[in-house]
Amino acid sequence: MKRIYLDYAATTPVDKEVLRAMSPYFSEKFGNPGSLHSYGQKAITAVDESREKIAKIIGADFREIIFTGSATEANNLAIRGLLKGIRNQELGIGENKIILQNSKFKIPRIIVSSIEHESILETCRDLERDGIEIIYLPVNRQGFIDLKKLKNSLNENTILISIMYANNEIGTIQPITKISEIIKNFRATYGSYPVFHTDATQAFQFLNCDVDKLGVDLMTLSAHKIYGPKGIGMLYVKNQNSKIKILNSIITGGGQEFGLRSGTENVPSIVGFAKAIELAEKNREREWKRITELANYFWREIKKICPKAEINGITNNELGIAPGKIKIHASRFMIQKLPSILNICFPNYDANDLLMKLDLAGVAVSSGAACSARAMKPSYVLNALGYNSKKIKNSIRISFGKFTNKKELSETIKKIKKIL
Ligand code: PMP
Repeated sequence: MKRIYLDYAATTPVDKEVLRAMSPYFSEKFGNPGSLHSYGQKAITAVDESREKIAKIIGADFREIIFTGSATEANNLAIRGLLKGIRNQELGIGENKIILQNSKFKIPRIIVSSIEHESILETCRDLERDGIEIIYLPVNRQGFIDLKKLKNSLNENTILISIMYANNEIGTIQPITKISEIIKNFRATYGSYPVFHTDATQAFQFLNCDVDKLGVDLMTLSAHKIYGPKGIGMLYVKNQNSKIKILNSIITGGGQEFGLRSGTENVPSIVGFAKAIELAEKNREREWKRITELANYFWREIKKICPKAEINGITNNELGIAPGKIKIHASRFMIQKLPSILNICFPNYDANDLLMKLDLAGVAVSSGAACSARAMKPSYVLNALGYNSKKIKNSIRISFGKFTNKKELSETIKKIKKIL
């Protein structure tokens, strides 16, 4: 039986070209980039070239790219590193002293959406226990934050706004440029804060992530969502080369990554990450179109075998087209959802049961984010959308990628029909 993988939002296979680029750096060119001899030189050259390549693609400077061990770590660095940087700046020290009373920000406020990835939400919950104020912005039934609420949540103590570019469970794309406009206007009156961070882990495959165009100060990416290796992520940090650094390190040691993330650089993975970014950028337009067509086809077929099925988040009707069709990508100027993620509710059918039966039939899908799915927790994203627990329990996430084709999807439809 040929297995069908429809869980690309959880992770992707490493592209052959990526693997080829990485390969010499495991054994042949294995040097430590910190070493002065020629082994080290080869390694540091590879890291530098990768950094340069990525910086160019996202419109950043070489020194603004900080490699981390994952997007999770990059998100932690964005939040915890900023908080630490502010404290240290205000105290005029370079060590970790937590003296909030001396801060200009009496109780620092952080604003996030309630559908952020757990690496943002759990970090915020942790900081909340330390006395930081966290505002969890609600989302509507389509998964969008309310820009008015965001504006109203801003105050002089706000140090950070973190809003994901595209959601990993429902694919909703937040209006990042509009958010950065709001922040810019606020800063015009109140100074250099809040800093704006976006988690673009899911977005990069399909959306332009030029940091200037987006107007972000910090941006997270991860390699394993774009056909790169697992265990490598990055954080774009604006003006990291200026005198006043907005972030301080949370991992101390040998001072790698311009002092922001100590630890010997993961050379093969950094090289693979840069290759994956290059390929994603090159294939983006074509893949968007191809996957949109596949998603349209799949949804039409699902409606034929289960007329009561519904898409969670943005639905066909909300995009103003005939029921039974889904126009995921209305125009380049009205993009609201990734084409690759369909979160579907099959009324009265237990999602975990469907997932298991599909797996036995050779099709891999998900009942939410992979991390929550293993803990068998109901989706907090669908919960934040206001869905009742029954609907959440009946919902699965199907996500398409590079190797998805019509044949695979028609096979999947047949299998779903049989199970239902
Ligand atoms: N942010 C988002 C939006 C994600 O989808 C994921 C992965 N599920 C992460 C962060 C975490 O990425 P990593 O596995 O690299 O830590």
